[in-house]
Amino acid sequence: MSKRDYYEILGLAKTAEAKEIKQAYRKLAMKYHPDRNSDDPEAEDKFKEATEAYEVLSTPEKREAYDRYGHAGVDPNMASGGGFGGGGASFADIFGDVFGDIFSGGGGGGRSRSAKGADLRYNLELDLEDAVRGKTVKIKIPTHVNCEDCDGSGAQKGTEPENCGTCHGVGQIRMQQGFFSVQQTCPHCRGRGKVIKSPCKTCHGAGLVEEQKTLSVKVPPGVDTGDRIRLAGEGEVGARGGPPGDLYVQVMVKDHPIFVRDGKNLYCDVPITFGDAALGGELEVPTLDGRVKLKIPPETQTGKLFRLRGKGVTPVRGGAAGDLLCRVTVETPVNLTKKQKDLLREFQESMESGNAHHAPKKHSWFEGVKNFFEDMKF
Ligand SMILES: [Zn+2]
Ligand SMILES: [Zn+2]
Repeated sequence: MSKRDYYEILGLAKTAEAKEIKQAYRKLAMKYHPDRNSDDPEAEDKFKEATEAYEVLSTPEKREAYDRYGHAGVDPNMASGGGFGGGGASFADIFGDVFGDIFSGGGGGGRSRSAKGADLRYNLELDLEDAVRGKTVKIKIPTHVNCEDCDGSGAQKGTEPENCGTCHGVGQIRMQQGFFSVQQTCPHCRGRGKVIKSPCKTCHGAGLVEEQKTLSVKVPPGVDTGDRIRLAGEGEVGARGGPPGDLYVQVMVKDHPIFVRDGKNLYCDVPITFGDAALGGELEVPTLDGRVKLKIPPETQTGKLFRLRGKGVTPVRGGAAGDLLCRVTVETPVNLTKKQKDLLREFQESMESGNAHHAPKKHSWFEGVKNFFEDMKF
């Protein structure tokens, strides 16, 4: 297994400085991050490759070993020198380091009083055609963004949030309960440690204002009701510098006038005339890609399903396309003229006079009913 050169992966010269290595990795990581490329194994591989390259080149000892001995010098499969071995810890370290500035407080928790923003949910209604073929849709979502007038602090311009007098800026207070001293979130500042004396007039002290933002959502082909698309970081902004939440786009596929979808298969009802059913015929049926011809064999009974292979839906998670199943319904003729009625009566008589069973189902049904009454023996 030959590995690509680490410098080549990051698109850098051998003389690259630590800062350039970080920048190059950050760019690749943003592009191929699994959160932004769900269900894309190629992006995941690229992300892993870049992470491995960064892990080595950002550690001076490892970089030196790599420069001298190549991959053999830093082979993660060789136990020497504590490689990265796919462990979660080192991975998180890289993350905290590189993404620290955008996902601030990531994973740490406790140290700062920042809080991750709330996840948002958006219900997206799609036509069946769009769900099957995929589409990029623009959606407008209400979101809270940092108030510009107070820079998100919530305090009126020219003033600043002051330390809470109850907890002296700690956000926690100690309560004596019998023998125990219990630490509690300060009820006055709700754990923030700061209180706003003169609230910003625009956001009334919240530090956030509501805004509409327009997002482009790439709906992959084959989605179905119940599927959801995650847009990382597009949720509410975090409080006090916390990372934003995620936006979940919940897919709802509208009913279609012709097709009923069941997973990857589509169903449609096709009415046929009594004549076509008896004598056989050819008719046009709709598919999502246009019309196709469907051959009806002679003596077709109502309710029969005809399968058109591959004319269904290609599932979003991969696999072969489903089928289109056409259920024929024999339609009873209406608005008959006198002549047509006479012809039918004549036809009916001819059916009854012969010996052949022209109506196999009716025949066996009558036999069954006859046996039923005989068994009852009143
Ligand atoms: Zn404000
Ligand atoms: Zn307080």
